[in-house]
Amino acid sequence: MIDVVVAGGGPTGTMLASELRLHGVNVLVLEKEPEPTKQVRSLGLHVRSIEVMDQRGMLEHFLAHGQQYPLTSHFAGITKPMPDRLDTSHPYILGIPQTTTERLLTQRAVELGADIRRGREVVGLSQDEHGVTTHLADGARLRSRYLVGCDGGRSTVRKLLGVEFPGEPAGTEWLLGEMEATASPETLAAVTAEVRQTHQGFGAGPSGDGLYRVVVPAAGVAEDRSAPPSLDELKQQLKVFAGTDFGVHSPRWLSRFGDATRQAERYRVGRVLLAGDAAHVHAPLGGQGLNLGIQDAFNLGWKLSAAVGGWAPDGLLDSYHAERHPVGADVLNNTRAQSELLSNEPGPRAVRRLLAELMDFDDVTRHVIEKIVAIAIRYDVGDGHDLLGRRLRDVKLTRGRLYELMHGGRGLLLDQTGALSVTGWAQRVDHVVDSSAELDVPAVLIRPDGHVVWAGDDQADLVSHMSRWFGAATG
Ligand SMILES: Cc1cc2nc3c(=O)[nH]c(=O)nc-3n(C[C@H](O)[C@H](O)[C@H](O)COP(=O)(O)OP(=O)(O)OC[C@H]3O[C@@H](n4cnc5c(N)ncnc54)[C@H](O)[C@@H]3O)c2cc1C
Repeated sequence: MIDVVVAGGGPTGTMLASELRLHGVNVLVLEKEPEPTKQVRSLGLHVRSIEVMDQRGMLEHFLAHGQQYPLTSHFAGITKPMPDRLDTSHPYILGIPQTTTERLLTQRAVELGADIRRGREVVGLSQDEHGVTTHLADGARLRSRYLVGCDGGRSTVRKLLGVEFPGEPAGTEWLLGEMEATASPETLAAVTAEVRQTHQGFGAGPSGDGLYRVVVPAAGVAEDRSAPPSLDELKQQLKVFAGTDFGVHSPRWLSRFGDATRQAERYRVGRVLLAGDAAHVHAPLGGQGLNLGIQDAFNLGWKLSAAVGGWAPDGLLDSYHAERHPVGADVLNNTRAQSELLSNEPGPRAVRRLLAELMDFDDVTRHVIEKIVAIAIRYDVGDGHDLLGRRLRDVKLTRGRLYELMHGGRGLLLDQTGALSVTGWAQRVDHVVDSSAELDVPAVLIRPDGHVVWAGDDQADLVSHMSRWFGAATG
């Protein structure tokens, strides 16, 4: 019996596979496409995902393949400088094409021992109290203890579960692709800047190797949005918006996307879970979807490993939905708001002008940018110290730094007193006695996903929190 089958080998599925492998979980990723896609959707990673890569020792690879851009506060086309002292040691955007992100995450999962099979499509499932049977298009049936649907916005797993996906269908659609152009780079840049004054959803910019990434609103919403547009359709729309088609030709790929906004009502049904786009879809405003999926996987990985390992305390696996559903809902909320504000109608334009004025206040810009880059998330882990439920940023210690200590994906007691102990939980929680000028609390207990669940100096209190998050004591 396989421990976990992951349907979908996109960024969410491969990230999850790596997290599971860190805990020795036997994982099989089924990806329906025989080859990696050439389509580049996401263009970058935000602060929290960059931190996640750092926490797992993967950041160097991402930095080597990406480009760091200064972080600005960008919301609904309004751009303001970054607020003072953002609470992170990675205050930048990492520009990196989704295809590269997927390649790096796949390599990492394979290095850690995940079995990734391409050309294998999930078409059916059934579950009982002991496990899940997954049906593949080629007729094979696989038995596993858990199944996670990381199979994108049109998730087969979600549909097979019958989980509701309430929200709004796409009202607007855009055509996107990478292609060559005969117009000069100067003409392209000048015309694009002009059109973007009134249509933020328009873009045509160099994407390397003499290619241009072109995005233009479509004439309407296609009935079958999975079918790519033709080059003629895209050229026609370029003429409508820019008055010229820039002589675009030889597309490497073409696709369409919309602003459908929906969220799965439940992220877990028995032994089957949903993560990434399978659990939520929204307009790509602010570049948040891939980041959200990676962070879903980061939250779920250790909890599912605990369930497989038999040490998950009551409610741990359900805390995945409890913690991540509100985070997804908040992203849907901010992308809906951005969509409204980008309208050229007088009302939304007036609200946008007002918001632009408000974003001159440091606290307002901070609130907005912390949402987009996902560093202000606070899970409900109980009342107490202000750090509780929040992810701790990387802090300098007298010997090294915090994130270097988290590569193995275990819990961590960062103890500045030297008087505490993890006896009974040493198999799941590392005990580091060190100090940091940036941390004004005697000790913190940090989950494998970097969120603080206890702060203080009382051993009995610590013990009760270790059993709440890391199960019964062993040995
Ligand atoms: C134009 C555009 C720009 C974007 N820009 C950004 C951005 O800048 N930043 C950002 O964070 N996000 C961005 N996004 C969103 C981002 O692309 C998605 O959120 C991200 O791809 C979600 O990852 P995922 O792994 O959950 O799903 P997917 O990437 O959709 O991966 C799902 C995988 O499952 C496979 N699959 C599907 N069905 C089955 C099945 N039945 N059996 C087996 N395998 C299956 C698919 O082939 C696919 O490989 C953008 C999206 C668009 C459209």
